Amino acid sequence: MTKKPQSFTELNYAQSSEFLLALGEPAYRVKQVAKWVYRNMAQDFAEMTDLPQGLRQKLSDSLKLHSISPAKQEIGRDGTVKTLFNLADGKTVETALMHYDPERGGERYTVCVSTQVGCAVGCPFCATGQQGFERNLTPGEIIDQVLYFARYLMEKKNGSSGKHVSNVVFMGMGEPLANYDNLWRAIEMLNSPEAFGLGARNMVISTAGLVPQIKRLAKEKLQVGLAISLHAADNALRNKLVPLNRRYPLEQLIPACREYIEVKGKRLSFEYALFRGVNASIGHARALADLIGGLKCHINLIAANVTADPAFQPPPRQVILAFEDELKRLHLNVTLRERRGQDINAGCGQLRSQFLKNKER
Ligand code: SAH
Ligand code: SF4
Repeated sequence: MTKKPQSFTELNYAQSSEFLLALGEPAYRVKQVAKWVYRNMAQDFAEMTDLPQGLRQKLSDSLKLHSISPAKQEIGRDGTVKTLFNLADGKTVETALMHYDPERGGERYTVCVSTQVGCAVGCPFCATGQQGFERNLTPGEIIDQVLYFARYLMEKKNGSSGKHVSNVVFMGMGEPLANYDNLWRAIEMLNSPEAFGLGARNMVISTAGLVPQIKRLAKEKLQVGLAISLHAADNALRNKLVPLNRRYPLEQLIPACREYIEVKGKRLSFEYALFRGVNASIGHARALADLIGGLKCHINLIAANVTADPAFQPPPRQVILAFEDELKRLHLNVTLRERRGQDINAGCGQLRSQFLKNKER
């Protein structure tokens, strides 16, 4: 470890051991500290009451526990919580917590995590894409978003059991696969039984379609889920909606998906956001079925979230339902996702856009 870490959560397990050893502590301490950080959701070293006072002091003198701190929080009518975090360098990212009903397939608390400040892909319908790219998040900054909401749920629990983070989706701000190494380190810590202990199957990475990284992901042992943000079934339209398509067009992306499914022995999902008058006709549904029919996959349809650009609006309900019906008629696995946190700017990057706009004023 050459550079001083900015927080304890930047360290993987081996590095934590090294760090405590360098402080003159015995090896078993790392287990104790990790339990406080990843199981008891400590916010401060002072909370670690079974550690000697001297060690707690040494730890807080050496480094911070977490890399991010909450700056602003909104709670939507559907229970979605959206938090804007300050990073050490003054930049901000946002994270959402979504609650899914017990009656609809089991109670779930899903954290939607950001992986970059801004995004270089620049999709015109996306609030983050319009902010430009600033930097990658570190592993600690990624992990801390999950730990923050794990703590939030723990505090809300009030004695009732079962409220915990059950799923993590990398669908917040940024292109996760463009920050592969830091993302992967965060996933390993979130998955590790010695740390957060969340099943790999309960995590999903969403990508705009970085083909080399999809191939790399196929070789990883952990069975993390993968979602491809498709949004269009022909190159001309996809070039406009997801500009990364110019670098990795559909003739590269779809075979990479096929390869992923074969190597992993696991289905993947395609995200398709419906934009009125852009990609939502019956013809578009048929083109989509032609493109991915025969692949072991699932399609998630979602109506567009309205952002600053008026060119991207959700279609009327009957258009959405007709699109879904056509895919079903063509034997595709499709789910129409409800939009979450509509009243609190819960779309990717929207809270931060509003925050930046207010700052400019
Ligand atoms: N960069 C990654 C992950 C973050 S975006 C990706 O693009 O996959 C997460 C999802 O939100 C993507 O499917 C993205 O296309 C979608 N999205 C972004 N802005 C949206 C909007 N205004 N309406 C609907 N979906 C949107
Ligand atoms: Fe980036 Fe995803 Fe937004 Fe596109 S949709 S700009 S890839 S965050």
